[in-house]
Amino acid sequence: MGVGTSTFRVAVVGAGPSGLYAADALAAREEAPRFEVDIIDRLPVPFGLVRYGVAPDHASIRSVRDTLEAVLDRPGVRFLGNVPVGGSGGVITAQELRDCYDAVIWTYGASRDRRLGIPGEDLAGSVAATDLVAWYTGHPDADEHFSSFLPSRQRAVIVGVGNVAVDVARILAKTPAELAPTDMPPHVLETLADTDVRQIHVLGRRGPAWASWTTKELRELGELADADVVVDPADLVLDPASESAIAGDRLIARNVEVLRAWSHREPRGARRTLSLHFGVRPVELVEGPPGSVSGVRIERTAPDGTGSWRGTGETSVIEADLVVRSVGYRGVPIDDLPFDDAHGTIHSDAGRIRPGEYTAGWIRRGPSGIIGTNKKCALGAVDALVADATDGLLPHPAPDRIDRLLAERGVSVVHTEGWRAIDRAERELGAARGVERTTISDHTALLRAAGL
Ligand code: NAP
Repeated sequence: MGVGTSTFRVAVVGAGPSGLYAADALAAREEAPRFEVDIIDRLPVPFGLVRYGVAPDHASIRSVRDTLEAVLDRPGVRFLGNVPVGGSGGVITAQELRDCYDAVIWTYGASRDRRLGIPGEDLAGSVAATDLVAWYTGHPDADEHFSSFLPSRQRAVIVGVGNVAVDVARILAKTPAELAPTDMPPHVLETLADTDVRQIHVLGRRGPAWASWTTKELRELGELADADVVVDPADLVLDPASESAIAGDRLIARNVEVLRAWSHREPRGARRTLSLHFGVRPVELVEGPPGSVSGVRIERTAPDGTGSWRGTGETSVIEADLVVRSVGYRGVPIDDLPFDDAHGTIHSDAGRIRPGEYTAGWIRRGPSGIIGTNKKCALGAVDALVADATDGLLPHPAPDRIDRLLAERGVSVVHTEGWRAIDRAERELGAARGVERTTISDHTALLRAAGL
């Protein structure tokens, strides 16, 4: 790619929504300063959490891929997949990357789980939602032990009442027929068809007004083909702070309304029971067979009048052979990036780390918001970059040597054509079973499909 003195070369690290939105905004500029963008991802495929986070049965949300895909066709934009940056597995360090470009935007998201910090958290059978989601979406680095482990599970507890908890509960509760139209890899569909979790308990440590799920997602739990949703009316007795939250927020009011309707419903005798609990926090994962979880000790909580909920000392145990910790994602540092370890985010001033280096998306602000939130966040980083380029603060022009460097290191880079070949292969696999797509989960198979 040619480098003119008026065209800045930018590396965007992470091909999820925030990276693609940032690349789009930079490449779309028709006035100076202008930009050429390399979107670099450690995986051979783009889309980040749209591919590996959004639930496979949420086709309408996943369809944002079509919009994001178009960014790869913009003149001046390249995709460089299969290029891990930094850390022990990196093929190039953060500093080497900086040296190859006029600017870098870090948009690599938050891929790790937050911890509960309670005894028993590491017992076999206790898993992070992030790992389970990675497995059922066909992430190449997924922990494949789920395939042998899930079919023997019957009683699940999911900790947390956010949208990821709802996704996990729904996927575990769906019938094979409900999952069949998704793009989940065949081994995932087979494993879930063999899995017969009868009891699913979802735990909220505060009252129902404070759950962070959205109403549309919550409602779907009541529409499952073979699962009864159970809510204890006693969990829906509200304190004054919850009442005023409901009065002031339609989303909260709707959520509680949905729960109230369920609390009056008679169970239909469905194969699975999905129980939503509020005002309980896990205090220990109980060990049953040596090294394995057999239950979750929970403690009742109550509002303390200051807006917080505290343990009451009243405990009980919910039996469980699968515990899914769904209490949020966190980002991890890359090399020498200034990192806020408490929040799992990169330090920045509204997206500017320093002139020439920027950040956006979950790695900037933490795991919150909907996909569209990342557009605004990405535009913030782009505005800062454009301002710095205009003010002459970028070390322009940087040497155009990334391709040579990666070739010297023997990296099999997946470019846009390679991704398109993977896309075709996945669509063909899907067509063979009458669905739109089947995700290829194996890393080697992805590279082979890309023609590498
Ligand atoms: P989240 O919305 O932050 O929910 C985390 C949940 O974990 C909260 O209920 C939180 O309770 C609870 N929690 C945290 N620490 C806990 C602890 N020590 N013990 C017990 N509970 C604890 O996070 P998420 O569900 O991972 O979702 C991440 C983001 O992705 C959100 O913005 C979400 O909306 C989005 N997302 C959207 C969709 C969709 O639109 N369909 C799907 C998936 C994800 P407290 O509130 O009490 O802290």
